[in-house]
Amino acid sequence: MKSEIYLDNSATTAVYPQVVELMSRIMLDDYGNPSSKHNKGVEAEHYVTQAKETLASILKCDKKEILFTSGGTESDNMALIGCAMANKRRGSHIITTMIEHPAVLETTVFLEKNGFEVTYLPVDSTGCVKLEALREALRPETILVSMMYANNEVSAVEPIAEAAQLVKAYNPEIIFHTDAVQAFGKYRIIPKKENIDLMSVSSHKLHGPKGVGFLYIKDKTKINPIIFGGGQQKGMRSGTENVPGIAGMALAAKLCYENFDEKIEKLYELKEYFVEKVLEIPGTTFNGKRGHEGTPHVISISFEDVRSEVLLHALEDKGIYVSSGSACSSNKPVLSGTLKAIGVKNNLLDSTIRFSLCTMNTREELDATIDALNELVPMLRRYTRH
Ligand code: PLP
Repeated sequence: MKSEIYLDNSATTAVYPQVVELMSRIMLDDYGNPSSKHNKGVEAEHYVTQAKETLASILKCDKKEILFTSGGTESDNMALIGCAMANKRRGSHIITTMIEHPAVLETTVFLEKNGFEVTYLPVDSTGCVKLEALREALRPETILVSMMYANNEVSAVEPIAEAAQLVKAYNPEIIFHTDAVQAFGKYRIIPKKENIDLMSVSSHKLHGPKGVGFLYIKDKTKINPIIFGGGQQKGMRSGTENVPGIAGMALAAKLCYENFDEKIEKLYELKEYFVEKVLEIPGTTFNGKRGHEGTPHVISISFEDVRSEVLLHALEDKGIYVSSGSACSSNKPVLSGTLKAIGVKNNLLDSTIRFSLCTMNTREELDATIDALNELVPMLRRYTRH
């Protein structure tokens, strides 16, 4: 059997075996509806409450500040649309950045069509938002700022605490949202310490199941529901709770934060080891921030005169899985907005590969990938340059 090297962990991750075990037990035995009044329902509700407690203890928040959703996309939609609807009497101006995930950017387009005005902040060549630009964009009618915590395409982490402090100093009523889908599990985030009002998280990026996530909502934040029905989760998000998913996500989060510093340090070591070796190949450039200034897991590298999709499939033939741009949006044949925003040259936009690591990757896997790149890149260039 061909061995697999999975370096696409920003797209999704393998589920921890303990999580699979817990989820299958819930699906087979404890399958009740948490809204039912009988024992089976109470049992199911217990899993939901326990999951809230686990997540609240990681975020050092109250368990009523956790709202379960179907994942990062829904959390982002709820944060933006829910906030816009609840605060429209106060103003109609929203600020976000040019490098957000489509879950935010497509939602702001929807809001623009519905009468809101949106400012898109630029970033520098490493993917970092300039605080000066944020300061200049704030207006009396601004109701919401949405800035991602860590980028999904390049190794960039935003100055969230500084940005939120700046926003609150201008007007404490402006709501500060962060899409932490690529950051939760990689950083210790305490929303109250960083002045975050709303924070989106997705389970499948942290070795949990797909189709589940949560939105942290700071107590007393003005936000409306966007999904209506049976009134579950105190009417804030109707729909029967995904009990196995919720319990699985909470266990995955707990496991992610065990021996945390050690695991993250190992990731940084792997990242730097890999980047250094790949950059020895002529005609390569790293996008984002090196070392601890960037995220520990995302590695974006442009390979001059190589089409990313061709390289992606050539690596796949060797059992190595990577991504060209962002996998969540790469079914659309468009060039990456993030790479454009950080100023990657036009000829490299279509020549960029994202390798994304997890703590289960090994140095041996990276060595095998480096060997494959050393063989494939010069070979593919011979075709391109002909
Ligand atoms: N936000 C970011 C930064 C992401 O990377 C992703 C997925 O890659 C999402 C949102 C969407 O999350 P989900 O796949 O859970 O809907």
